[in-house]
Amino acid sequence: PLDGEGASGRLTIDLAAICRNYGKLAAMLAPAKTGAVVKADAYGLGAGRVGSALLAAGCRDFFVAHFGEAMKLKPHLRDAGRIFVLNGLQPGSEAACAQAGIGPVLNSIEQLRRWRSAARNCGRVLPAVLQFDTGMSRLGIPPEERPLLRRELEGCGEIEILCVMSHLACADDADSRQNADQLAEMRKIAAEFPGFDVCFANSGGIFLGAEYHHVLARPGIALYGGAPSGGGANPMEPVVRLDVAVIQTRTVAAGIPVGYGGTHVTSGETRLATIAAGYADGLLRSLSSRGAVYYDGIRLPVVGRVSMDSMTVDITALPPGTLSLGSLVEVVGPHQTLEDLAEAAGTIAYEILTGLGHRYQREYH
Ligand code: PLP
Repeated sequence: PLDGEGASGRLTIDLAAICRNYGKLAAMLAPAKTGAVVKADAYGLGAGRVGSALLAAGCRDFFVAHFGEAMKLKPHLRDAGRIFVLNGLQPGSEAACAQAGIGPVLNSIEQLRRWRSAARNCGRVLPAVLQFDTGMSRLGIPPEERPLLRRELEGCGEIEILCVMSHLACADDADSRQNADQLAEMRKIAAEFPGFDVCFANSGGIFLGAEYHHVLARPGIALYGGAPSGGGANPMEPVVRLDVAVIQTRTVAAGIPVGYGGTHVTSGETRLATIAAGYADGLLRSLSSRGAVYYDGIRLPVVGRVSMDSMTVDITALPPGTLSLGSLVEVVGPHQTLEDLAEAAGTIAYEILTGLGHRYQREYH
């Protein structure tokens, strides 16, 4: 049962499993170091809780997207971990970033110059990571600017470059040619900018092989139990369980429309349960008449459109009276993995996790 505070369901987050996943990746990566990507509130699971658990598990390098996320995470790391801001240095945040001892990822020469003047202003050497674009065309210094960057870095004593990094675009597809191309480009960069540690692999990259590991890796989804690569069995331990409460049951005759738009019409007498989560809780509208939930291992298909705060499932397969007000059905758990749910929704586990929101009662183990 839920705690009576009006939650729509229970999201169980297994911090010990996250730490075991961390340990598994760290063992694969050693002697390379294993950082953790905890952006977007640790993929929706709670950056403070996840960050401090991973710190206790030995992680020292944490990656967020925004400076604001770094500031929220910092007190949970008790000055023991380094935090890097992947989206780069935003104009106006330089002084606060320097003051907080947070290392931005410098994605352009302009950002390098801004960080350099912040260092001069505060009279201290400031840490940073340099990001290069090796083929994703999203963030980082492009190849044609590398000669200028080399000149900028000559005699640049104000900044301590902690590592150089780049991001793989296709690491979840081991057969993609782009992986090897990006690796070759990263190696060229390492040769052009010698003496810096290299940070390269995301979850998928770790599984591409040791040549992708370099000095520091940055897994995200694998820590949270998501499959690091597209094909094959998922080697990571599940971390999340989601159970949602039944808020009404009914029996309807044949020929009755269900939900917005009446897109589903019952073909015979049908028992229905409406459950307390919808697209505002990460159960995407694309699950309409496609997804399912489970009870005791029995599949209960979603019928009709998913609403904002609820959706309706067909429970005819269960013995009458099995479900009633307050019963919990499994949305993610032993019978339906995150990947299963994501596939039914036509998306990826990342989008499901980060969209779960804050209306479920959360339990951390
Ligand atoms: N590094 C960067 C720059 C990212 O944007 C992300 C996530 O999107 C990661 C690492 C972690 O990726 P994954 O969750 O696939 O391990």
